Amino acid sequence: MSDGKTYRGNCFCGAVAFTVTGEPAAMGYCHCTSCRHWSASPVNAFTLWPPGNVKVTRGADQIGTYHKTDISHRKWCKQCGGHVFTDHPGFQLIDVYAAVIPDFPFRPGVHVNYAETVLPIRDGLPKMKDLPKEMGGSGIQLPE
Ligand SMILES: [Zn+2]
Ligand SMILES: [Zn+2]
Repeated sequence: MSDGKTYRGNCFCGAVAFTVTGEPAAMGYCHCTSCRHWSASPVNAFTLWPPGNVKVTRGADQIGTYHKTDISHRKWCKQCGGHVFTDHPGFQLIDVYAAVIPDFPFRPGVHVNYAETVLPIRDGLPKMKDLPKEMGGSGIQLPE
């Protein structure tokens, strides 16, 4: 599945840089209130990676972290405030925001937490009410 290709990403100012390698475990859009509130945007495009596939190459000491819940440790650059990723330690996955790895071919496969949407997107992809069962959700799909 993985071709081992590496893509570079960085924060808004460039003080924090990192790479992702191979293929993510999942890609899609999260509509949850927490993602929307933290990112100040109507939807969050995510790519979920095993921690070993994500490497910080510059500015590790410039990464700030905040966790309102144990599920999501949200990370940003202390210099510019730009968001970089969210660590989900319970899932052993890191969400690297699609917007910060512009050369990576983002191929969304699912919408999650669609029950909370403020921006319905009729793209034909599955719409999970909350999360898939394997991530502790109900696994229920909603109509678009
Ligand atoms: Zn920055
Ligand atoms: Zn979310």
